Amino acid sequence: MKNVLVSVMLLTILQQPDTPGTSPSQTVPASTGNVFIITTDGLRWQEVFAGADSLLINNEKATPVSELSNMLYWDVTPEARRKKLMPFLWNIIAKKGQLAGNRFYGNKVDVANAYAISYPGYNEIFTGTTDEMISSNKKYRNPNINVLEFLGNKEDFQGKVAAFTSWDVFPYILNEKRNRLNINSGYENGIEYTAGQEVINEVQQEVTDKQATRYDQLTFASAKEYLQAHKPKLFFLGLGETDEFAHDGRYDLYLQQANAVDRMIAELWHWVQTTPGYKDNTTFIITTDHGRGSKTGKWTSHGAFIKGSSEVWLAMIGPGIEPLGELKEKQQLYQRQLAQTIAHLLGENFDPGQPVGEAIALKRKETVLPLPEKDRTVALINDARK
Ligand SMILES: [Zn+2]
Repeated sequence: MKNVLVSVMLLTILQQPDTPGTSPSQTVPASTGNVFIITTDGLRWQEVFAGADSLLINNEKATPVSELSNMLYWDVTPEARRKKLMPFLWNIIAKKGQLAGNRFYGNKVDVANAYAISYPGYNEIFTGTTDEMISSNKKYRNPNINVLEFLGNKEDFQGKVAAFTSWDVFPYILNEKRNRLNINSGYENGIEYTAGQEVINEVQQEVTDKQATRYDQLTFASAKEYLQAHKPKLFFLGLGETDEFAHDGRYDLYLQQANAVDRMIAELWHWVQTTPGYKDNTTFIITTDHGRGSKTGKWTSHGAFIKGSSEVWLAMIGPGIEPLGELKEKQQLYQRQLAQTIAHLLGENFDPGQPVGEAIALKRKETVLPLPEKDRTVALINDARK
């Protein structure tokens, strides 16, 4: 008890914001926790909620050795199939978190941008808005302020925001040049001087056929080295191979990658739950940047004119997320709501100077997460402007 009292007193002293001579590194971090955003590019809600598609897993062209894929991922019911494909989502998040986007129940998540391709999707996720001018995946610097840099500029978050991505366009989407966010993308070497990172860098050098999307496993391995060394509060892991295999028309590899992504998320969650500072204090937001064609002949592609491309999904787990499991009520959420949701989970308000999508309600009883006291006036002013 005495120790507890001393700790409380110490905390109180350390938390005095204006103690002279106290540098940011000496202050106790805000108790609002950590947020990890994890995306896997172009993974359809159809596979997330119903597992393998019978027409595609038995199609010789899409699945060359269908017997093997069937043994791995097929089962009679959608519930059993999705559990085989993504066991972490359906064994853990379905019990302790939330899964939104099962359109069989009218529970919908969509992109609000008109293009349903990657850059506009990631722009929407991180800036909380759509931008008609962002209509391609070309490498141009995003003029819009994103929630990672907005929070990264705050004192509590200095040096505590990072992004590790497979796709090499993220330094432009997140505009690394403007904000100097810590972004590791494509086949960029990791800068940690650890034995593990050195091996990863060497392996990366050996990849002869370097594409715009790095192998997700390498992105993940580098991300883990970084997490161990720097313990960020706000972290983005952007995985990309699900989209690549789908464009290649390889349904077997697309399923295999969805399964691998689920395992990476499980491993990350295990690490979080066994690491002091992160345990019971970290929220995962897992989603995708766009859907894909819903028709059997169109699943490989996506875009403004391909039906189903705007349809996405969202999985969340963490202390701020009520454990409602799979959401089955009629609902419409949009991708542009994620940026403010991320900020609210961290006890902040995302106000980049332009209207952004409102935060998602994470508990049944309230409409949105309450704003921190200091930001309520700002939000009221913003609401009045809309
Ligand atoms: Zn794509």
